Amino acid sequence: MEKIEHIGIAVKNLEKSNELFKALLGNPHYKIEEVLSESVKTSFFKVGPNKIELLEASSEDSPIAKHIEKRGEGIHHIAFAVNDIRAEMDRLEREGFKLLNKEPKKGADNKLVCFVHPKSANGVLVELCQEIEE
Ligand code: ZN
Repeated sequence: MEKIEHIGIAVKNLEKSNELFKALLGNPHYKIEEVLSESVKTSFFKVGPNKIELLEASSEDSPIAKHIEKRGEGIHHIAFAVNDIRAEMDRLEREGFKLLNKEPKKGADNKLVCFVHPKSANGVLVELCQEIEE
């Protein structure tokens, strides 16, 4: 893994949280993107070389809605940048980690992503992400 790419934070109201994180970080979000396959609306902030991703559920059966119902708002996942997502997925499977998807899928911010089950990573939902080359 290369670096922490971003930290994902589940929020109830993206508009309000965009204002809050603008005040916290001292600069506004640079993009808003809806990921239909995950039923989430996201916004991204830059913090030096890293990013913060805010996630709001866009439907009741969104994984973010379920997360907030169970645990409230807060840190949802940590995303690591990888150069070769398939190679990392294979490596993690060999190490005994449970992957939540068998194939990389298209995530927000022009990335191929794969999630690692929090049960196999000390309760942390881990996201692998690889920049999609245009
Ligand atoms: Zn993410």
